[in-house]
Amino acid sequence: MADLALADVHKTFGDTVALDGVSLDVASGEFFTLVGPSGCGKTTTLRTIAGLEPPTAGTVSFDGRDVTGLAPEDRDVGVVFQNYALFPHMSVAENVAYGLRFTDPPDGQTVDERVTELLELVDLAGMGERDPDQLSGGQQQRVALARALAPAPSVLLLDEPMSALDARLRETLRRQVKRIQSELGVTTVYVTHDQAEALAVSDRVAVMHEGRVEQVGRPREIYERPATRFVASFVGENTLFDGTVTDAGDGTVTVDVDGTTFRVTGDATPGEPVTVCVRPTALVVEGDANRFTVTVDTAEFLGETTRYYADWDDRTVVFRTPDPDLSGEITLGFDPDEARLI
Ligand code: ATP
Repeated sequence: MADLALADVHKTFGDTVALDGVSLDVASGEFFTLVGPSGCGKTTTLRTIAGLEPPTAGTVSFDGRDVTGLAPEDRDVGVVFQNYALFPHMSVAENVAYGLRFTDPPDGQTVDERVTELLELVDLAGMGERDPDQLSGGQQQRVALARALAPAPSVLLLDEPMSALDARLRETLRRQVKRIQSELGVTTVYVTHDQAEALAVSDRVAVMHEGRVEQVGRPREIYERPATRFVASFVGENTLFDGTVTDAGDGTVTVDVDGTTFRVTGDATPGEPVTVCVRPTALVVEGDANRFTVTVDTAEFLGETTRYYADWDDRTVVFRTPDPDLSGEITLGFDPDEARLI
């Protein structure tokens, strides 16, 4: 399996800057996810890795070898797109075999043997003779995955492969994809706009924004220690308070947010503008420190907990607690250790 690297990749379409200096290193065998809002450049990054989109500047390399000028079929990549793109006039087995049009099956297998093996891998054994329209959406997407994996590529690229499926099917399919990926150990780059999905499946995540990579890290790092205001706002439903540092010392920073004072663990300089970032579960009803009073706006019952959207001086505050019956004015607080200073 290959490691892959992008070095300072730029891509413009006319006046549109799609990629504005993207550099990434993906380790061999890693499940690496690009996540970000619509238009941030995820698909363009993936297409650049695949060789479907020549970069305006910068390089793509596999195992230290510059592949920037190579055609897709010479790159040893398998790609699965959002829409299944199966051939309707071909059987399931023929669709999978189509993945072998440029390459012989690995390990001296025959095409039939390889197709049988792959259909087993994606839990579709015995379905080779069916037409694609006799399969569910999730099954069709597994055929597309089998087709991409047929030549045993070193790198697997997945562009929102679940987005057309309903929520339950997405969860099942992403567990299957994850299992197959780790069974094969294939280096995988996965694109999604869904931050929860990104955190759930990945070894590491790159959060993209406006053609740039804002932060790369393990899911827990991204969730617990967002490096920028954008990452904090995109991942994990954080509430962000913009304010000014009034006092700092001994690892504690005092921040004024429009007349309310919060104390947060961290380092900063008095006068510095900062953002205090608090996760929904760090906001505690009747908490001891950093208290402020909000008005509950809407509640979403999630089962174990209820998520509340509340108003504090025209700011939206999001908190989650097991109590499903809160309404009206509520005093919240948060521990100085549980907030993050950005
Ligand atoms: P989405 O989640 O909506 O698919 P994305 O993060 O994958 O978004 P890209 O598809 O990479 O974003 O697009 C990045 C930017 O480049 C967008 O502003 C998009 O409009 C523009 N863009 C992408 N492809 C083209 C193209 N072929 N011609 C012109 N502009 C393009």
